[in-house]
Amino acid sequence: MNLVYYNGLCLDEKNIISLYNGSFLYGINCFEGIRGYWNPEKGVLYLFDLTEHIDRLYNSLSSLEFETITTKEEVIEEIHKIIAENTISECVYLRITFFIDGESSWSETKNISRVISIRSMKSNLDQKNTLSLAVSSFARISNDVMPPRIKAGANYLNSRYALLESLKRGYDGALFLTKNGNISESTGSCIFFIKGNSLVTPSIDCDILIGITRNRIISLARKNKIEVFERKITIEELSNFDAAFLAGTMIELKQILSIEKNKFQIDNDVYQQVLFILKNYLYGY
Ligand code: PMP
Repeated sequence: MNLVYYNGLCLDEKNIISLYNGSFLYGINCFEGIRGYWNPEKGVLYLFDLTEHIDRLYNSLSSLEFETITTKEEVIEEIHKIIAENTISECVYLRITFFIDGESSWSETKNISRVISIRSMKSNLDQKNTLSLAVSSFARISNDVMPPRIKAGANYLNSRYALLESLKRGYDGALFLTKNGNISESTGSCIFFIKGNSLVTPSIDCDILIGITRNRIISLARKNKIEVFERKITIEELSNFDAAFLAGTMIELKQILSIEKNKFQIDNDVYQQVLFILKNYLYGY
């Protein structure tokens, strides 16, 4: 499945956007990626924290001063309609992008369109995924440069530099530090550390995108009596942690084998517990 809805109309994805459009030329857009988990026993597709994604999308729209007449409720209704129209019985990935339409500049605030695309995407939660991270020489973008909490396409330029640098150095991914040298996040996911029976993750003042997966893990962990600390984490602390993992919509959960020379446990008990409670939540149990 690979469908594209442009302002509510189902279209062929070719020839939708002008080549002179401000979003295409300058990367100015905001978006959300949302996974849908298909539960075959229940015959239900669960959209992971749809409301939270739409709330974050509307914060991004307002920060970028994109004037849109479409309400949150209308977008949610449109998504439910797309799903109902297409009788989906598999895991999917839904992307909603708001962008400056027509021939326009990077400073345009009106003439905003939306594209919703939906395609098949399997979950990798049952696979054992591990990766090694390099500490990036690029600092994470900050609130006084380009707010990282806005999910804007152009923010990924910062991620691109860091990821490509880490791959060249022989790692699988990058860990960003803030410009003050604290641990921030990876290029497309948030980071969690495990120490004993507790989770530790950078607080929201560490130049992170406030991940929907991050927030859900924090609330599910607390509900299951796992202590969670949201705080500033220095790079020197890396060697004190037992285990570490990344969390985000696209990568779901991925265990971190090492960050530079620091090695971490794989399949740590707390990690297994987090994986179990998250999976149950995603599939509606
Ligand atoms: N940080 C960055 C930079 C990201 O791009 C993402 C992916 N959206 C995340 C964190 C994780 O956020 P979420 O769980 O909402 O996907």
